[in-house]
Amino acid sequence: MTEALTLDKQKTKKGTADFPIFDALASREHEQIVICSDPENGLKAIIAIHDTTLGPALGGTRMWNYNSEEEALRDVLRLSRGMTYKAAISGLNLGGGKAVIIGDPHKDKNEALFRSFGRFVDGLNGRYITAEDVGMEERDMEWVFSETKYVTGIPKSLGGSGDPSPVTAFGVYMGAKACAKKAYGSDSLEGKKIALQGAGHVATYFARHAAKEGAKLYVSDIYEDKANELAKEVGAKVVDPDSIYGLDVDIYTPCALGGVINDDTMDQFKCDIIAGGANNVLEDEDKHGKELVKRGIIYAPDYVINAGGLINVSGELEGYNEERAHKKAERIYDTILDILKYSEENDVPSHVASNILAEQRIAKVGKIHTVYSSKGHFSGRAGEMYLSDRR
Ligand code: NAD
Repeated sequence: MTEALTLDKQKTKKGTADFPIFDALASREHEQIVICSDPENGLKAIIAIHDTTLGPALGGTRMWNYNSEEEALRDVLRLSRGMTYKAAISGLNLGGGKAVIIGDPHKDKNEALFRSFGRFVDGLNGRYITAEDVGMEERDMEWVFSETKYVTGIPKSLGGSGDPSPVTAFGVYMGAKACAKKAYGSDSLEGKKIALQGAGHVATYFARHAAKEGAKLYVSDIYEDKANELAKEVGAKVVDPDSIYGLDVDIYTPCALGGVINDDTMDQFKCDIIAGGANNVLEDEDKHGKELVKRGIIYAPDYVINAGGLINVSGELEGYNEERAHKKAERIYDTILDILKYSEENDVPSHVASNILAEQRIAKVGKIHTVYSSKGHFSGRAGEMYLSDRR
């Protein structure tokens, strides 16, 4: 039998003995969690909706072999909150949500599991809109999509926006230019030395923009052939993965993995700017964010500069248009400049500044809903109309 247990603030006041669920929800202001259980098909999933002030909660579904249910719950609460901030600072009319499926992505996948999950998503009637995240593949998302229209980031062949990397990379490029403007008074990357970590999707598109503008690129990847291929295309120099941090460059652009700004790498940096596409680059947000300020390194907060991917999939809610997605991602330039200005004027690290500005937008835009309008919530309506047409 399949059933969803929806826990929200109104229904129960007591948490469980082991994990105080309602305290956890209240402390970070989550609205709702939905626990999805379908034992026959092996489905154990949690959907977390953090905040829907600005619009429906959008965020990917992650499939991961968590060590415990508590670990999965903590992860989904953390990730969904991050999506609220990302959408808000990016000027999108979206809230923050995320889902996790507990299971081994190499062993536990099957059609019924994903279709069952899709029905849980559908049951939320658009309060949560999902997308692909770690551990999920195109085929899995197609199964989810066969049961619910509340899916974004689907292939172009199915009416979606396809690979988000080009728009993500364009946003990173615009963000790096904004940082250059702040550091050097000009946003030109001509002649600027850039250390690019990773030679994958985002790095490749970024490198093309930067090379076209005349930047001098250094590229590293754990797969040497990937680094060689990209270097050949854009005229870059290949460097060893371990030496990327200490290069004497203007900009370090992490486009590989998280946690790369840490106790070991901090003293190696000689750059003026860190601006890249990778998620969660500060190993310890508070500590390493402050360390960068002390060293005078300008840091473009990761979730702001890499929001092109979210901007891209959110376009599906209005009817996807690639040019419009690029136009919206171009605004990352102004957003980063606003953040750096706030950071300087208020003497707070840039990642703190972006959190504050995101919260201010939620509070201000949230207030306009107190004014009656027959249109209701614009983004929700637009999304609903388009998503209905698509299937
Ligand atoms: P990708 O898998 O295409 O590329 C990552 C590359 O990094 C791979 O080539 C990999 O070999 C390399 N790599 C791994 N460890 C490395 C190391 N220690 N040193 C050097 N290279 C290493 O991934 P992607 O889609 O380009 O995404 C890159 C980063 O950007 C990820 O952190 C991702 O979460 C983030 N991101 C991507 C998007 C998007 O639209 N693709 C959106 C937002 C954030």
